[in-house]
Amino acid sequence: MINPSLPVLINAVNYRGLTDEEARKALIKHGHNVLEQKRKNSALKIFANQFKDLMIIILFAATVISAIMGDILEACTIMLIVFMNAILGFVQEYRTEKTMEALKEMTAPMARVLRGQKIKNISSDEIVPKDIVFLEEGNKVPADGIIIECSNIEVDESLLTGESLPVEKEINNEVYMGTVISYGRCTMCVVKTGMNTRMGEIADMLQSIDEEQTPLQKRLEKLGKYIVFGCFIICAIVSGVGILRGENIFSMLLSGISLGVAAVPEGLPAIVTISLALGVQRMLKRNALVKKLPAVETLGCASVICSDKTGTLTENKMTVRSIYAGRANKAFKVLLHAAVMCNNVTILREKQKENKFFLWSNANQSEVVKVAGNPTECALVNFAIKSGEDVEGIRSSYIRINEIPFDSERKRMSVVVTNKKGEIFVFVKGAPDILIEECTMIYDDRNLRVLNKREKDEVKKENDLMAAQALRVIGMAYKKIDDGDISTLSIESNLIFLGLAGIIDPPRKEAFTAVEKCKSAGIKPVMITGDHKLTAVSIARELGIFKDGDIVLTGEDIEHEGEDGLKCIVENVSVYARVSPRHKLMIVKALKSRGHIVAMTGDGVNDAPAIKEADIGIAMGITGTDVTKEAASMILTDDNFASIVSAVEEGRVIYGNIRKFIRYMLACNIGEVVTMFVGMLVGLPVPLLPIQILWINLVTDGLPGISLGVDPPEKDIMKQKPRRADESVFSRGLGGIILIRGLLIGATTLAVFACMYYFGNDLKAARTGAFLTLVITQLIHAFECKSETKNIFEISFFNNIFLVLSVVISIILMVCVIHIPFLNEIFKTVPLTINEWIMILGISFIAPVFISLFKRKIPYN
Ligand code: ADP
Ligand code: MG
Repeated sequence: MINPSLPVLINAVNYRGLTDEEARKALIKHGHNVLEQKRKNSALKIFANQFKDLMIIILFAATVISAIMGDILEACTIMLIVFMNAILGFVQEYRTEKTMEALKEMTAPMARVLRGQKIKNISSDEIVPKDIVFLEEGNKVPADGIIIECSNIEVDESLLTGESLPVEKEINNEVYMGTVISYGRCTMCVVKTGMNTRMGEIADMLQSIDEEQTPLQKRLEKLGKYIVFGCFIICAIVSGVGILRGENIFSMLLSGISLGVAAVPEGLPAIVTISLALGVQRMLKRNALVKKLPAVETLGCASVICSDKTGTLTENKMTVRSIYAGRANKAFKVLLHAAVMCNNVTILREKQKENKFFLWSNANQSEVVKVAGNPTECALVNFAIKSGEDVEGIRSSYIRINEIPFDSERKRMSVVVTNKKGEIFVFVKGAPDILIEECTMIYDDRNLRVLNKREKDEVKKENDLMAAQALRVIGMAYKKIDDGDISTLSIESNLIFLGLAGIIDPPRKEAFTAVEKCKSAGIKPVMITGDHKLTAVSIARELGIFKDGDIVLTGEDIEHEGEDGLKCIVENVSVYARVSPRHKLMIVKALKSRGHIVAMTGDGVNDAPAIKEADIGIAMGITGTDVTKEAASMILTDDNFASIVSAVEEGRVIYGNIRKFIRYMLACNIGEVVTMFVGMLVGLPVPLLPIQILWINLVTDGLPGISLGVDPPEKDIMKQKPRRADESVFSRGLGGIILIRGLLIGATTLAVFACMYYFGNDLKAARTGAFLTLVITQLIHAFECKSETKNIFEISFFNNIFLVLSVVISIILMVCVIHIPFLNEIFKTVPLTINEWIMILGISFIAPVFISLFKRKIPYN
């Protein structure tokens, strides 16, 4: 956090920043700070795309010919059906596009700027020249500018220069849009924005939401091609056989083509995309923002979730619980100064109404001191306030002249200050076990003495004691600098030990159930933290992540084990403590080598490589840096572990639903093809007319199929083991089920057709019967597809209102098509008797009931 009141930023006063009004004008003059976007898909283009399908084009041509040959009514109806199909496709695709756009907006980066004398968080695209922008480790530089203030900063310019090592920068150096602050902090004055930046010159490197296809989409697209090919052959045979038998050539061609249109699951890839996009929306509601679509799918396969402790498993609301300062009063006094000075928190006064009964009275307003910034540091400053210190007084008694920032590798932070007498001090705080090794002196009751081994051990023991109570322990030390050299790291040695502060950070309530859910879902939760081993274990034990017998590794242990050693034991490790970000990468690699699908969280700059390497990289939305967010495939908007588990659940639901409608759609299509193909092969007349097939394609395939895409999850979805990432959509018996069910749908339809044809001797009535049977069997099958484990007697029929509605609508429409004279003419149907209706309904239930009785459970799992 940057505090403009801090002395380091004193120069910033010369740059007062823009007023809101000036910024508004500049925005009009210079335009938004964005790189030019690729052209979006317009609504019209999406609509036109619906007609690009080869089958549709052929159908159109055929219809035109049929119109010329006289059957104008039929031609118009076919046109209408195709058009309605296109509208349905358009609505879905358009919605998907809009969802993705909204997501893109949500991932747009923010920047902290000085506007109207206040620090504001604004969207990076509103930045204008002359804005003062505050940048810190992990931030992406939002525009080109000049550094006006900085402390030990390094910038990663690899995106522009290809140079992978970070570049050190100082005041008056330029920084460029798109580069990353890899260390330290700075303030910059914006010079150029948008396409005028150096980044603008190479604008095609634009970072955006990944719209790459998921593995499933790729596989389905391939599958679709095979099916098209297969259908093409079948249609050719159907038409050919018909023509050979002397039927009207043109109507046979139209039959073949209609069958092709109906049988080709051209909507499949689209529906997959739609349900992925809908899933993305649902995940967002549960605080997981998916950046890369494939992650939705991978989430469902996650077998290990490696989570940061602080802020993800815990609340990140820190309070000092215990203090250890030896036996020295003097040490305690200095410790409080260290606590107040060695940080980057903002201390501000806020007006507060003293008495809520006198709201109208200004006289009752008092000011309270508020602390904002890094939670660990806030805890320390709040402790000083509670101890009765005048923290603002302490702050103003020193001028800060240098800072060596905290980073999770060094696990400490130092601040160099000078007081009114011109004396220079360094205050250091950090992980005690590391800090104590840099200390050589300690206060006893009155005097400064050399720190001996016994005292060192006592401090370590105290540290362990606090850590074992789940406290996060910070050690503090200081020294006076006499030689005036304040720039090197050597100022962090030969320190005087001051004491320890034990900070409590309670576990998040939702984390408890989330951990349990993980375990029952066959997912291993793993805690990773920079904190002390004992702190980590005691929180992990409380949460149920750590069980007796599990292995706990520290960063040191990992170094000691090496990559190969780690691979051998990684399955049994549930807690990693005192690790550095580079260890995270080793952990991900080790887990992946054991065949795991790894989700890994991170917030700091150095976490980016591990996040990239993980199967599902997860960045923190609140505490995360731009760099991690960019590397991640998902962002947690609430930094909460429970949201990861929800996302995994959604991932499984989405995959399950995709399987549901694939099952439905393919079985229906097989049913249609079998009806036509077998019907013609055994010498029956053409069972269904083109218009009837097209109608089925739109009504019974379309609506229930889409409804299955939003089917509620099965209850035991988080009680199953994660599926294998490379598993085929048809695995676990689905392929066989689809085939059998498709054959049965076809057989039922043909049976009705044959019976009615031979016994009734009325082709039109037989066709109507077949038409109705096909529709009814498919609608029944839609319900069967709701579950992979339950049969038709066990399914909850009514928990998906869309499915119920689409089935009801389909039935009503069928009644109309069969019983309204005008529609009879169009669809070439005749009214059926009540007996025929009952018979058809009865026959349609035979197959599903039969399956349920003799195979109580479909052999999934
Ligand atoms: P985690 O993110 O897992 O909580 P950190 O890397 O933030 O771990 O912290 C590791 C250790 O570094 C902590 O146990 C603490 O002792 C020390 N530490 C944490 N934050 C600060 C800070 N702002 N200044 C100095 N030391 C810190
Ligand atoms: Mg941290």
